[in-house]
Amino acid sequence: METLFCDLHLHSCLSPCGSDDMTPSNICGMAMIKGLNMIAVTDHNSARNLPAAQACADAYGLLLIPGMEITTREEVHLLGYFPTVDQALEFSEFLRAHMPKKKNKPSFFGNQLVMDEDDNVLAEEDELLIGAADLSLGELTKLIREAEGVPVPAHINRGSNGLLINLGFVPEDLRLTAVEVWRGLPCAHTPQEGRVVLHSSDAHYLGDIMEADVSIDLPERSVGAFLEYLRRGRPAV
Ligand SMILES: [Zn+2]
Ligand SMILES: [Zn+2]
Repeated sequence: METLFCDLHLHSCLSPCGSDDMTPSNICGMAMIKGLNMIAVTDHNSARNLPAAQACADAYGLLLIPGMEITTREEVHLLGYFPTVDQALEFSEFLRAHMPKKKNKPSFFGNQLVMDEDDNVLAEEDELLIGAADLSLGELTKLIREAEGVPVPAHINRGSNGLLINLGFVPEDLRLTAVEVWRGLPCAHTPQEGRVVLHSSDAHYLGDIMEADVSIDLPERSVGAFLEYLRRGRPAV
């Protein structure tokens, strides 16, 4: 078993609400300073900064979990974790066709920067990334699994875009095996029973990336082992 200190919900400068300092290179550098071993970059509805994140993570010896934070039709935030950057990119391209056709206004929403691993801006994403897809939570859960990913509702106990707050319950028919619980707020319900519970920072600024205080034990240091850990859920005690 290997103990990996992790932060599995991070926004890069591709998310309009993410700081321009959250470049893939800076995120990985800060993760190293914090003593993390495993991170996930999970931008809103796009995976376009994952290639740079992968290159930087590889250079530092960090394990990168390719991810995205998808907004469902119900305005629920759903994390998708994928086996490879290419699979995440493919899903991101698929999702693009299901997003509202609205252009970003950088002066209002913030920049959406696509970076390379050396902190150069490769492009600016012009479709606004923070809208909701025209796909339901149920549809997206299924689609993520079909793409070999694992769906994990984000910050379920948080007022904005949390599953419990939006829907009031965790739909059993979705067979969710993992949820993310926001540590800054109580979680009155116990939807986490039998499920893996993730605690992450949802950092939009470099300083908010977590200290090494949450860890996961995996049989080996690999994306596959992490996805299996999520899929299994937590055995009922
Ligand atoms: Zn969110
Ligand atoms: Zn987020």
